[in-house]
Amino acid sequence: MEFEKKEDCGLFGIYGDKDSVEKTYFGLFSLQHRGQESAGIASSDGEFIQCHTGMGTVGRVFRKGRKTLQRLANPMAIGHVRYSTSGMSKAINSQPFLSEYSQGQVAVAHNGNLINAKLLRDEYEAYGSIFKSTSDTEIIIHLLAKPSHVTKPDPLGHVLSHLQGAFSLLFLHNDRIEAARDPYGIRPLCIGKTKEGAYVVASESCAFDAIEAGYIRAVEPGEIVTLCEEGLKSRFFVAKGSIKPAHCIFEHIYFAKQNSRIFGDNVHEVRKKAGKALAREFPVDADVVIPVPDSGTSAAVGYSAQSGIPFEMGLVRSHYVGRSFIAPTQKARETSVKLKLAVVRDAVEGKRVVVVDDSVVRGTTTRGKVRSIRQAGAKEIHMRISCPPIRYPCFYGVDFPTKKELLANGRDLGQIAEFLEVDSIEYLPLDKMLECVSLDKDCYCTACWSGKYPIPVDVASSKFSMDRYQMRMFDENEYDV
Ligand code: SF4
Repeated sequence: MEFEKKEDCGLFGIYGDKDSVEKTYFGLFSLQHRGQESAGIASSDGEFIQCHTGMGTVGRVFRKGRKTLQRLANPMAIGHVRYSTSGMSKAINSQPFLSEYSQGQVAVAHNGNLINAKLLRDEYEAYGSIFKSTSDTEIIIHLLAKPSHVTKPDPLGHVLSHLQGAFSLLFLHNDRIEAARDPYGIRPLCIGKTKEGAYVVASESCAFDAIEAGYIRAVEPGEIVTLCEEGLKSRFFVAKGSIKPAHCIFEHIYFAKQNSRIFGDNVHEVRKKAGKALAREFPVDADVVIPVPDSGTSAAVGYSAQSGIPFEMGLVRSHYVGRSFIAPTQKARETSVKLKLAVVRDAVEGKRVVVVDDSVVRGTTTRGKVRSIRQAGAKEIHMRISCPPIRYPCFYGVDFPTKKELLANGRDLGQIAEFLEVDSIEYLPLDKMLECVSLDKDCYCTACWSGKYPIPVDVASSKFSMDRYQMRMFDENEYDV
């Protein structure tokens, strides 16, 4: 894993359990890999919603433990872990967002990125709306509160049909939870049930394992699922099946946890298949296969199994070092990467090493790891990457750097190998990667590799226009976690 791409957000919700808030807390812990910048829980007793959010990991935000959880204790709750799309973090953007409007209170939690958020916000500001955050999510509350929308037969469905981009959303109303997914199903969202019979929703099924809940099914693209006193209800805000899905396949390659089931497949199995395909396509004479943990591990297991080359833990990850990209200088970043990933000298010294990683973004941290392996005495280093070269930015909720900063942009394999200081590098081709998942090939978004965006985006301006917007408003108040 390179520490240059950021996941963005994990969602958890549960209705009708006496320990809903505690289970949300555990659910968020299991989704922590999706965002460590801020966390929060909103809960309702059926009449009144309360909310606690803060900067940092779940453990940090709820460091007072029982006290905060007891204060929130209610039978329905939603929770959120977050990364922003900019390097800086702002407490004001922590979710769930709690607001009050003509129809009562509502708390909103979002995973994804709305590509028309700025357009909508400009329109609402022009009519006098005041925004309290710089997040794209806040526009949803303004759309919900608009007088001409609240009188629609299905106000939420009407509002969601105005949104463009990637959105998996949870809404906590005073008396129910609503979970919705964009018509392309870009980000995952699934439904489960606890042993006691309470319904749960989460970004990934690993959150169900944490609370011993069973997986039922995914929230379908374009579906709104309501968890309420009558159980589980479903409706669609776009005609079911009218839009071809575009599930983010990068969720399988990097973001999601190995024990999760997303888009119909287990993440570990998909990564293992990718590693096997990589070994078939690009064999190499070597003594050991080592993964870049954690997201490269399953693919390395697959590469080793297919090639017969022994698997070794040549890099060990420290879970006690903070995220490298918040280190203030390049030198500090390099040191923190070294601390985070240590080389096991005995596993690589004097050996020809295959290093399996999930992806390469800028390449600077990968090069740092390569240098460390070389310094530990590796004779040869062959990189094998379990996805194609990333050449295009993501506009649907993943914070890759700009196109210019992407290592594979404008470089051929030889130049990439030279930059990374490896003896060889090979990437899994797109068609081979798509053979590792079970849905039809055209059911996945592959835009960061292919440049084919399933939802049209203004590649030249949309991402940065929002960034400028944020800086204009908050440059005085930004701070690091
Ligand atoms: Fe996922 Fe890449 Fe598509 Fe973004 S562009 S949604 S990261 S596949």
